[in-house]
Amino acid sequence: MKNLIKAIKEARRVGVLTGAGISTLCGIPDFRGPQGLYKQKDAEKIFDIDWFDRDPSIYYRGCAELVYGLEKFTPGPVHKALVSMEKAGCLEGIATQNIDMLHQKAGSKNVYEVHGSPILHHCRWCADEKKFEEICEMLRRGGEGFIPRCKCGGAYKPDITFFGEALPEKAFTRAQALAISSDVFIVLGTSLSVFPAAGLPRLTLQAGGKVFIVNAQPTPLDDYAAARYDDLAAFAQAILEEFGE
Ligand SMILES: [Zn+2]
Repeated sequence: MKNLIKAIKEARRVGVLTGAGISTLCGIPDFRGPQGLYKQKDAEKIFDIDWFDRDPSIYYRGCAELVYGLEKFTPGPVHKALVSMEKAGCLEGIATQNIDMLHQKAGSKNVYEVHGSPILHHCRWCADEKKFEEICEMLRRGGEGFIPRCKCGGAYKPDITFFGEALPEKAFTRAQALAISSDVFIVLGTSLSVFPAAGLPRLTLQAGGKVFIVNAQPTPLDDYAAARYDDLAAFAQAILEEFGE
């Protein structure tokens, strides 16, 4: 990883894109992996806005563990490595496809959640806002099958981008600006198969920047990368050795 470390130190601006692979290191199942959510019954309905409005219990049942059980997970080595880079002034920002809030939990400041986030929930009818912790508390008190509802009767929906919804514009615009302005852009733990997030490193390449990829599986951009590596744990270790306290 010497080449990657050297490129980071010489770069004017470094950006990263993270995906499920960095969170599976912490025990969170990859949505698309063999143990993942998409293998569950009704999987394609869980993150579908039309189904949510018809029956929010499909989402709340399907995500009881995966989203509302997230409190028990702690940031992994890659999350910590990125915090050390940011503290050292060597990381401009993080675009992430993940909805597990672990970058913020680890202490990263500039995080752009391009698939939205459960940090806030909004009532589908009157847009009343609740924090993640408040929804967790409502779910705990409500027990199994409970749907957190607003005083007006509408169901609270997380600000995760569901199928059938527009991307979070502000976060995505910032992620694009990050990709374009980075002369080194590092892709971590994503196979770059989900658009439009997968298009971000292409923006870096088009603007003349270099892309590095660290992912266990091949990606469509491997041939265009300055270098690619398989091992995320080795990446985290190399970064922590260089930038950690
Ligand atoms: Zn309401």
